[in-house]
Amino acid sequence: MAKKKKKQKKIDIKVIIVILLIIIALYIISQYIDAKYRQPEITTESTSSVTHSSGDLGEVEYHFIDVGQGDATLIRTPEGDILIDAGENSAEEDLKNYLDLCGVDVLYYAIFTHPDSDHIGGADMVLEEYDVLNVIKPDFEKTTKVYTAMMDAIAAEGCKVYNALPGETYSLGEFDMFVFGPDPENKELDSNNSSIVIKATWGKTTAMLTGDAEKPAEESILRTYSGAELGSMLLKMGHHGSRTSSTEAWLAAVRPTIAIISCGRDNSYGHPHAEALARIKPYVGENIYRTDLLGSFVFISDGEVFAYKDK
Ligand SMILES: [Zn+2]
Repeated sequence: MAKKKKKQKKIDIKVIIVILLIIIALYIISQYIDAKYRQPEITTESTSSVTHSSGDLGEVEYHFIDVGQGDATLIRTPEGDILIDAGENSAEEDLKNYLDLCGVDVLYYAIFTHPDSDHIGGADMVLEEYDVLNVIKPDFEKTTKVYTAMMDAIAAEGCKVYNALPGETYSLGEFDMFVFGPDPENKELDSNNSSIVIKATWGKTTAMLTGDAEKPAEESILRTYSGAELGSMLLKMGHHGSRTSSTEAWLAAVRPTIAIISCGRDNSYGHPHAEALARIKPYVGENIYRTDLLGSFVFISDGEVFAYKDK
């Protein structure tokens, strides 16, 4: 009798283990389906001053990838990956190597700030090689080969496409990106000034990412938004640190303590320009981080502060 009881107990444990394994498998499958088919959270609040309570948020990593003279930023949130710009076509292998080293597979958002080749040259590769769920771009077209290649790759990917508008917030979990520009009413809208300008918020940490927005775009944003809304800890300086961006008025509103510049070593434009460096210095002191000098690097936010990390 006692023996029989023991056997019964053994079977019970086996059954429980099998049920647990089924539950775990179902959970993993549901998480995958959720990530793949979840609709992006886009809101159109008129303010960016959304502050989440921080503490147990986890970490967000901003990878400023060295793609030579160009831009590519990978943002890794606990809920998924976001890529902002894809560098020149000639740098797409470097970009792919970097993304693969990070183990990137799915990009929840691919943001192409504006249609210049140093930002979208690798866009077709990104769309072909990775599972891109949502593309965010400005409502600004070009007739160039790289632009056509990007639009063809977007069509082939069959992903959702959004034209960014001021006042929108694109979210991924607790990670928010508030759109300040481009302003469709801006009469001086050229390719650079059609750049998507967003403020990313993770807990108490904020980062202003500006593409190649120059003085006309900065002035346009300043006409609509206040310093309270624009204030950001980290600023990726517009147009690779060009003198045509990062005006006094813009910096006075954003008030960064960390400056990022993405540009190529010994680039022919002379980026970053001395005038822009002189203007940012009173705000950030020595906290200027340049891909031409450092290669790729990472800023990690725990929701409270940013920490620098070599890559
Ligand atoms: Zn550029």
